[in-house]
Amino acid sequence: MVGLGYDVHRLAEGESLILGGVRIESPIGTVAHSDGDVLLHALCDAILGAAGLGDIGEHFPDTDTKWKNADSTRFVTAVVEMITEQQLQLVNVDVTLVLESPKILPYKQQMRSTIALLCGLPEQRVNLKATTSEKLGFVGNKEGVQAYAICQLQELR
Ligand code: MG
Repeated sequence: MVGLGYDVHRLAEGESLILGGVRIESPIGTVAHSDGDVLLHALCDAILGAAGLGDIGEHFPDTDTKWKNADSTRFVTAVVEMITEQQLQLVNVDVTLVLESPKILPYKQQMRSTIALLCGLPEQRVNLKATTSEKLGFVGNKEGVQAYAICQLQELR
């Protein structure tokens, strides 16, 4: 089974920027109820999608104070537990971050290993891509950040 995830968050000055579970040095960060980790949110939706389990908003509603400033690594861990209960396991994940700045190259390896650990996958089964929006649109204007994720699941043997 395959699943697709997408997320976007607004960026503002003075907010923290956490992507793929890694805190990024940046004057602008995501505005969100949780820690605003757009990459992990897209990843959760991809996994939930592949398992036919709905979306992240249904499982972790932003109206619930329980998830206020929540560390999004908890969402991924919870989602991986959900699929395990369904006798499913991840095969691979592939994520794309669309962000104008800052450059995340110095953080990429740490993000990849963090995602691999959360997903219980070897690093070769976790791919992380980053691109800018060529200064076009809300990402290009540094008003927001986008992430896409896709994953494959298989039955647990
Ligand atoms: Mg989100």
